[in-house]
Amino acid sequence: MTLHIIPIGPIDPDLLAALQEGLQIVYNQTITLRPSLPIPESSLEKERHQYHAEKVIRSLLAAADPSANNRSLGIINRDLYVPRLNFIFGIAARTVALVSIARLRQGFYGLPDDRSLLLRRTLAEAVHELGHTFGLGHCTDHTCAMFFSNSIRDTDQKKPELCPRCRRVLMKQKRTL
Ligand SMILES: [Zn+2]
Ligand SMILES: [Zn+2]
Repeated sequence: MTLHIIPIGPIDPDLLAALQEGLQIVYNQTITLRPSLPIPESSLEKERHQYHAEKVIRSLLAAADPSANNRSLGIINRDLYVPRLNFIFGIAARTVALVSIARLRQGFYGLPDDRSLLLRRTLAEAVHELGHTFGLGHCTDHTCAMFFSNSIRDTDQKKPELCPRCRRVLMKQKRTL
């Protein structure tokens, strides 16, 4: 089983390298960084200035190896939505996960950018969405990465790691792969 990070469109290489290192620790396995995919322009909803997350994740699924039991995490710097929700930080479908850093940057809120905060937030949301690909559900512990984020405040309360209960579930799930 391999875990891949796939940038979608341009993403800061330093952020990707730090994310790779952080995920390696949480998921206790080697993570490879794959070449970037283009942003599927058909996913842009012009009136909302947002990208339809399900269309973006479909292009990720198409790029993932269907024969292998791998996991892929796409990282995109575009604001994502799904119908009926104003925005989402990320989404997961089967073996692929997608995280947007658009609303994880302080600049989005009119504040000066903060690289270490961006990394912490990206790691928390990446651990969360990848957790779903391993069958983890949402956690009631607001400091656990599997807690559902409604706002950036929720994300900031989470640690970029799994609580002991979610770690146990992850270990059990990984043994069945
Ligand atoms: Zn979730
Ligand atoms: Zn948890």
